[in-house]
Amino acid sequence: MSDIVTCPSCGAPNRITAPPVGKAPACGKCGAALPWIVTASDADFTAQVSGPIPVLVDFWAPWCAPCRMVAPVLETIAADKAGRIKIVKLNVDENPMAAGAHRVQSIPTLILFKNGQPVERLVGALPRESLLARLEPHLG
Ligand SMILES: [Zn+2]
Repeated sequence: MSDIVTCPSCGAPNRITAPPVGKAPACGKCGAALPWIVTASDADFTAQVSGPIPVLVDFWAPWCAPCRMVAPVLETIAADKAGRIKIVKLNVDENPMAAGAHRVQSIPTLILFKNGQPVERLVGALPRESLLARLEPHLG
């Protein structure tokens, strides 16, 4: 994993690597929290959703039109709530085990995990404000 993310605070380019356990990625120049979006697979799903920082998993597939509406909303949430949330993208076509384990039957489904446990579940393409209203109580 080596995506380059531009720091929203100072504009410095940052190479995102896995941060220390319990920490969100931060800008190497100014220390500001960076938007945190990663792609998970069946193999690393449990590891990706563990930890004290809330993790919102986007169960999606390339053929799903509503999923394409949710994706940019999640990007803005990752930026606005940097340091307080991690977004994990899971392609259900390529990773049926994680989707099956959480009984995902229609997509998009968003599940919020805290310390590895699901605490909120949102089915369908919700508008940004509705999504934030459901997430906000769980964010530190
Ligand atoms: Zn910075």
